[in-house]
Amino acid sequence: KTPQVPYDLVIRDLSFVYPGTDRLILQKFNLTIPQGQKIALLGRSGSGKSTLAALMRGDLTASQGSIDLGGVPVAALGDHMAAYMGVIHQEPYLFNTTILDNVRLANPQASEDQVWQVLDQVGLNPMVESLPHGLDTMVDEAGLRFSGGERHRLALARILLADTPIVLLDEPTVGLDPITEKALIDTFMVALEGKTLIWITHHLKGIESVDRVLFIEDGVLEMEGSPADL
Ligand code: ATP
Ligand code: MG
Repeated sequence: KTPQVPYDLVIRDLSFVYPGTDRLILQKFNLTIPQGQKIALLGRSGSGKSTLAALMRGDLTASQGSIDLGGVPVAALGDHMAAYMGVIHQEPYLFNTTILDNVRLANPQASEDQVWQVLDQVGLNPMVESLPHGLDTMVDEAGLRFSGGERHRLALARILLADTPIVLLDEPTVGLDPITEKALIDTFMVALEGKTLIWITHHLKGIESVDRVLFIEDGVLEMEGSPADL
């Protein structure tokens, strides 16, 4: 079965316990994220945010309840979920290959023009253009170091090229200085226009740009509202 437009994410009575443990990490969690909505998911460390993200991605399986994407259980989608939801983790992973292949990881058939286009969207164009081998520069080549912000931009370029309708960012700005962080959040918001965004974060900075803010506490939805309500 294939998910149908709109690609709404619908979570119903979701409970989760890590196998071999007895603590409920999520307790009868209910949430609907309509396609195109941008949400910030906040909560204390250990409250279950990354666990919820892994469940939404289908990387973990619900103990009880369901998560559907466009009417299809994500558990049934398996690897196909990658075509619908792109993820940027706290420490984006760069592969020991060229910049070109790092960006078109999920779309090996993408042209160089398309890769330049997404690099432009994330503001990495000048940096890559200045390298002697441009797109063919090996990511681990001597002298080439990506800063934290550049790594996140490269990961974002990868996701933009994959063009998934949903993007999940798990604390994408941890460890960045405030100015880089602000620039990166602004880039995310513009580049992800029209897409569903699930943005996991520890703090309130930048959340005025989202449609909806959710607070999770001990595995339940404690509070939700618009950024203006906060
Ligand atoms: P943070 O803000 O620190 O990233 P989080 O809200 O993302 O926290 P989770 O990573 O979802 O929290 O963890 C929720 C709870 O589940 C924590 O108490 C954690 O210790 C526990 N946990 C996480 N992964 C596992 C695992 N693989 N096995 C058992 N327990 C786990
Ligand atoms: Mg986490």
